Formats: sequence, C-alpha cells, structure tokens
Amino acid sequence: MQDLHDEQFEETDCLTCANCCKTTSPIFTDKDINRISKHFKMKEHQFISQYLRVDEDNFHVLKSSPCTFLAEDNYCMIYDVRPKACSEYPHTNRRKFQTILDITLNNVEVCPAVYHIVEKMKSRIKVR
Ligand code: SF4
Ligand code: SF4
Repeated sequence: MQDLHDEQFEETDCLTCANCCKTTSPIFTDKDINRISKHFKMKEHQFISQYLRVDEDNFHVLKSSPCTFLAEDNYCMIYDVRPKACSEYPHTNRRKFQTILDITLNNVEVCPAVYHIVEKMKSRIKVR
C-alpha cells in the first residue's frame, strides 16, 4: 500500500482537485482547535462557535462545505496549522491500512487518488 500510495501521489495534483476539501469535513481534535485558534488569535470557544459543529459521532467538524479555509485557487489558507486529519488524508499510507478499510471505501467516492490506489490494489491481488 505504501508503494501504491507513493506511486499514485507522484502523479496526482491535489491543487487541481481539492474534492476532499470541497465535499467532506475533517475532524477537528482538541489539539487542532487549540493550534488553529491561536493562529487566528481567537479564543477556542469563539473559533468553535464560528466555524464548527458537533456531528452525530460527537466530533467537531466544519459547519459549512466546501471548507471555509479553502481558497479559490484550491490552496489551504491554514496549511501550516491544518487539522491532523487533513495532513493525513486520504490515509492510504497508514501503517495499519487494513484497519481502515471502511474509511478507504468511503474515500473511493471522494478522492480520485484513492480510487486509483484501490483499483491497482485489486489488480495486484487479482480481485474482480
Ligand atoms: S480528493 Fe484526493 S486527489 Fe483530490 S485533493 Fe483530496 S487528496 Fe488530493
Ligand atoms: S483545513 Fe485546509 S486542508 Fe483541511 S479541509 Fe480545509 S482547506 Fe482542506
């Protein structure tokens, strides 16, 4: 999976896509909220009430979609302090990849790179 991930992202230009940022919200952990609020010089509770809501699994996620922090040229306005979930997306290079198969299947519908990685994985293990 690591090789397939690396191969795919050598030829994937996320700046011409940004579909993840346009259609899904990352989870904002307490550490993310602390770091990003500081970046904006906001109190954490202000940041939460302005940008976030609590989802059905009790995680903080974005109130709006596309992401508030996505610029028109598809750059992330908070790239250096972005949520951990954004920096790790689409998680196809995760060490225990087999533990997140359900997440990967969902991401096939969001991320063209994941689609290609899964197709290549299927052909390598000869799944139809
Ligand atoms: S959806 Fe996938 S290919 Fe598109 S920007 Fe996000 S990570 Fe990159
Ligand atoms: S914080 Fe940045 S990387 Fe994360 S979804 Fe928003 S624009 Fe995309």
